[in-house]
Amino acid sequence: MLKKHPLSLYLVWIAILVLLPLPLIIILNSALVDSPSRLAIYDAGVIAYTWWLGIVFLSTRPRWLDRLIGLPAMYFIHGMVGVLALVVATIHVQLSFSMHAIIRNTGHIAWYLAIFGVLYASFFLSGWLVDRFPIAQKLKNKLQFFFKYQLSIWIHRLNFVMIGLIWLHVQVIPRISSITAFVVVFDIYTVVSLGTYAWYKFVSPSSEKRSGQVLCNSQVSDHVRQLHIQLGPDSAKVLPGDFYFLSFPKVAGVSKESHPFSVTDIQKSKSKREITFTIQTSGDFTKSLSRVSEGDRVNLEGPFGRFDKIISGDSDKTPLVLIGMGTGLAPLVDITRAYSKIRATHLMWSLHEEETDIFDEQLASLNIQASKLKFEKHLHRFKLDDYQNLLTQTEIKRGRFIIVGPARGVLETEKILHSLGVSRSHLTDERLTM
Ligand SMILES: Cc1cc2nc3c(=O)[nH]c(=O)nc-3n(C[C@H](O)[C@H](O)[C@H](O)COP(=O)(O)OP(=O)(O)OC[C@H]3O[C@@H](n4cnc5c(N)ncnc54)[C@H](O)[C@@H]3O)c2cc1C
Repeated sequence: MLKKHPLSLYLVWIAILVLLPLPLIIILNSALVDSPSRLAIYDAGVIAYTWWLGIVFLSTRPRWLDRLIGLPAMYFIHGMVGVLALVVATIHVQLSFSMHAIIRNTGHIAWYLAIFGVLYASFFLSGWLVDRFPIAQKLKNKLQFFFKYQLSIWIHRLNFVMIGLIWLHVQVIPRISSITAFVVVFDIYTVVSLGTYAWYKFVSPSSEKRSGQVLCNSQVSDHVRQLHIQLGPDSAKVLPGDFYFLSFPKVAGVSKESHPFSVTDIQKSKSKREITFTIQTSGDFTKSLSRVSEGDRVNLEGPFGRFDKIISGDSDKTPLVLIGMGTGLAPLVDITRAYSKIRATHLMWSLHEEETDIFDEQLASLNIQASKLKFEKHLHRFKLDDYQNLLTQTEIKRGRFIIVGPARGVLETEKILHSLGVSRSHLTDERLTM
């Protein structure tokens, strides 16, 4: 298990679950005189609150943390700690008692909001249910007629109301608010977490470093378009397989929320850097991208991604098997360009009939005939017997597999590959939902 995940992932779990609440727990338990069982009930409330502040911090997607553990892991911790916080908060709510209406009501309303928040996010914002149960996916697709992604994000922000209520709940408990050291540290935690979020939401998007300019926006098939963007002069280095969150703050008719897309191509020269995104126009935001024109400003948050770190950490003798579904090929094109000259590389692309030429320009530039690259283009998903026929024993036993596509397709592919003998620690994926 330790081999499958980086050590930094375990350290992040320990930092959030143990180190974060520790100072407040120490101060509270040394200042408050009460029985151990009553102190434990107070501790449960404090632990839940600090965990919620921790996940607010995580929602600002710190790039240094992405490079250490990856954004999907960060989202997983965000969701899982949210669930654990609710469990601990439930223990606190069920076992504590107060005669004061304001203490009781602030605590209870916050708890109801937390229950609603976890249930809503598990269904509408995470893949926990919909990626695994087709019936849940069908239901979500139906409900998304009204509960669009952006609306769900706003509903998720009710968690800030919950945090505000818990803050008030603590301030109005006389026995706690009289412990000055506790209140000071408690308030510092709150200000740092919410302040970081406010900075991330309102100040950082206007930074020069994060903006670029649209050079070209072309429709390459009925449901796919490519955006060609010039990056700002101070933008961070882009690695093969990276992705950005894009938003178009000044384009009328395009939502201001940011959405993730992988870099298909990077063109570098001394004076400028240009990147290309290949985008499936499937929902409200992606369909509205037809309104984006040459010269429009684009905000780019990122780059994020760990593919390059993982691949470069393997030996050069490890064969690389890259499996892309539809526009899931996007990050794999640049990985192929970077590694196919130094490593045995096998690029496998499954697609729909109407998507056959969407990557023509990029695939032509890979010069497949002249290189040692193995390439398969396959209408509809690869099945067990396709993999049996196309993969060599060396690839199955020693290969690094990178799979990118819709979450359900990725999970199914991983199941098939594992059944063929590919070790789970050699399977790395990117699911095109968060
Ligand atoms: C790491 C990553 C890389 C991606 N790369 C590409 C790519 O190169 N090309 C491509 O076509 N698609 C890519 N996607 C998928 C793309 O982000 C979604 O298809 C797009 O955001 C859908 O937005 P929509 O409003 O058009 O569709 P909707 O119908 O509103 O959304 C469809 C689904 O997309 C997901 N989604 C929507 N908005 C967001 C958001 N702001 N953040 C995270 N997930 C969201 C949700 O799961 C939602 O259920 C990538 C996704 C991820 C997570």
